[in-house]
Amino acid sequence: MAVDDSLLALTAGLRAELPAMISMLDVLVSSESPSDDPARLEATADLVADLGGRLLGLPAVRVPAGGSPALRWDLPAVRCDVGPVVLLAHLDTVWPAGTLARWPFSITGDHATGPGAFDMKAGLVQGLYAMAALTRGGLAHPPVVLLVTADEEIGSPAGRRVVEAAATGAGAVLVLEASADGALKVARKGVGNYHVHFTGRAAHAGLEPEKGINALVAAAQFALALEGLADPAAGTTVTPTRMTAGDTQNTVPARAVLDIDVRAVTVAEQQRVDDALRHFRLPGTATVEVEGGVNRPPLEEDAARELFGLAQRAADRCGLPALSCARVGGGSDGNFTAALGIPTLDGLGAVGAGAHAEGEHVITTAMPERAALLAALIVELSRRS
Ligand SMILES: [Zn+2]
Repeated sequence: MAVDDSLLALTAGLRAELPAMISMLDVLVSSESPSDDPARLEATADLVADLGGRLLGLPAVRVPAGGSPALRWDLPAVRCDVGPVVLLAHLDTVWPAGTLARWPFSITGDHATGPGAFDMKAGLVQGLYAMAALTRGGLAHPPVVLLVTADEEIGSPAGRRVVEAAATGAGAVLVLEASADGALKVARKGVGNYHVHFTGRAAHAGLEPEKGINALVAAAQFALALEGLADPAAGTTVTPTRMTAGDTQNTVPARAVLDIDVRAVTVAEQQRVDDALRHFRLPGTATVEVEGGVNRPPLEEDAARELFGLAQRAADRCGLPALSCARVGGGSDGNFTAALGIPTLDGLGAVGAGAHAEGEHVITTAMPERAALLAALIVELSRRS
């Protein structure tokens, strides 16, 4: 596949903007935005709206999202009549306020680090620069919608509806989530979150423990039995992640709560585990109540296959190296759009490592290349029949 002169020029132009991209990343990382902190989310959304608005010469629209801020930019089509392309980004991070004090934004060589730099503030910067390059380059492209939500890291309780509304009728959804080693994500497991409540009966642990019903022991038995529900060969994991129980040192605990994280590759597997959890019988007499359920459906590979091929062609036209793909356990908002039947490709954001881990970092020199790849993929979508 031959390189395309106008896309080579677009890629070179973005490379020249690396310092500006890094300074935008610095400003965004330096505005802490934990998912559960409305004031900081609002302040960061204002910042994104301001920086993005100035870069694109186009104001962001605030989308009502039930208490969580959301921003949307609409770039009109240029000489193209195919359906819109939706870019998904989120501005919230998993890092609590105050993290910056011990871990400020910094750059060493071509590594940029700071809370949320990799997941996914660098992806957001790349998305904005890709749109700016498209606007400047005058290349034919479909309408582009950039949607920025603020609750992705907690499962998108408010953002989900906004994401689904934007994706409905779209030709493709491109997710700007971080990418380990640059691999695009063609499949993501579905996610289930469960809170199982155990109720027993309190009793004095010294005087008459036999009159108690030990909720802690019931929860522990339940946790051990979960192994039988997992199916490693099918990619299904059922992981007890947190247990709380007991009030005092000398009381048989009357209450316990067990949290469970479920991941599965197919909807059928999600359903199998869900049924099994709800009908699980414990040997003892504690009562069990299952709360929660499937949070995100899986992003099955069918939804991404065509787009991955187009992305590879886009990389070729920009003179970029071949792309690799990955199948991962973590869910994203792309799971929701794939479940609607909209072709969805994920992992188009920053290249780097360490999502959700202290020290997460972005390869800065890859930022312009990923922005170019994204812009070229959008151009490629205009040629799709
Ligand atoms: Zn993310």
